[in-house]
Amino acid sequence: MSKQPEHPTLLIPGPIEFDDDVLQSMSRYSESHVGPAFVATFGETLSMLRKLFQTTDPSSQPFVISGSGTLGWDLVAANLVEPGEDVLVLSTGYFSDGFADCLRTYGANPTQLKAPVGSRPQLPEIEKALSEKKYKMITVTHVDTSTGVLSELKDLAALVHRVSPETLIVVDGVCSVACEEIAFDEWKLDGVVTASQKAIGCPAGLSISMFSGRAMQAFQNRKTPVASYFASMKNWTHIMQNYEAKKPSYFATPSPQLVHALHTALDQILARPLSERFSRHREVSDKIKQTVSSLGLKQVAANPEDQAHGMTAIYLPEGIKVTDILPVLGKKGVVFAGGIHKEIATKYIRFGHMGVSVTDPRRQDIDHALTSLEDSLVACGYKKP
Ligand SMILES: *Cc1c(COP(=O)(O)O)cnc(C)c1O
Repeated sequence: MSKQPEHPTLLIPGPIEFDDDVLQSMSRYSESHVGPAFVATFGETLSMLRKLFQTTDPSSQPFVISGSGTLGWDLVAANLVEPGEDVLVLSTGYFSDGFADCLRTYGANPTQLKAPVGSRPQLPEIEKALSEKKYKMITVTHVDTSTGVLSELKDLAALVHRVSPETLIVVDGVCSVACEEIAFDEWKLDGVVTASQKAIGCPAGLSISMFSGRAMQAFQNRKTPVASYFASMKNWTHIMQNYEAKKPSYFATPSPQLVHALHTALDQILARPLSERFSRHREVSDKIKQTVSSLGLKQVAANPEDQAHGMTAIYLPEGIKVTDILPVLGKKGVVFAGGIHKEIATKYIRFGHMGVSVTDPRRQDIDHALTSLEDSLVACGYKKP
């Protein structure tokens, strides 16, 4: 079993539980970030990301940069849009609002297409918006971690290509990459940004992204300079290309320890077919959602088709507060997260089920969490219907 000291099981929507080998790759001795051994590891890591995102198009460009998931928004906002350009932001909650805010920070002009809490903008409305105005880019939060709402990417991308073919399609995949299907080439996506600590299962600290040749061209064609230094693709693109070609290169020091951990995590993920990983997350998610319903509880994402497979946002019964139940769960060794969607924050909790807790058959994390959830509700005075 795990060599980690006994600890409460972290079942929040990131960071998630880590595999021992992933953690241990961080205790590697210090290496030069431009030495041949590390350059090879970094280069392989970038090539493995192509497989994770399912892209074989040589013009696709992966980036791994020290920072959190939020840095992905900066990469998009600073490099792919210019001040005054219009972006259609599909809003599903807290994280879509954050992306819009970031775009605005760099001078872009986001239009938010909002949906009621627990739902997502529908294709006909999106089609209408795209045909009324020309947008440089559309952004979508694949899984909005504040609501557990899953957006449908394949049909959305097909719609955008049909109605507004020049519009770049950018996905916030921070809570979906490595637990929900993403076919970068097949769906003709232009950008997917994510982070190390969610379904990829590597400690926090890396911004991970993939951009299409078309997105890189949009960056090349900019008329205005990039208003960021650290997040400028001008500074990072050739560094990533050099690493992947196993050539030493320097702009800002990467974290060799984190890159080693990411290499191990990707090795493990890619050792099995991705389709198997996605269906496993689906199966476990279905079971969790069934248990939640059988307890008489409702999910924030009301429509089953809009429910994410790596997390579940659960409304608490009347009279039970987030601050009542989380400590009770904690005593049973289960860590869930509270709500963060501002309209409903005090009314729901979030259960993250991604990565090793779902895929490692030796772990009982999910069953333990489900039993603990029921017991904790009862301990808080809840009577199951
Ligand atoms: C977690 C998350 C982010 C932010 O990532 P950080 O690593 O916290 O900066 C952005 N978008 C989504 C969908 C997320 O789940």
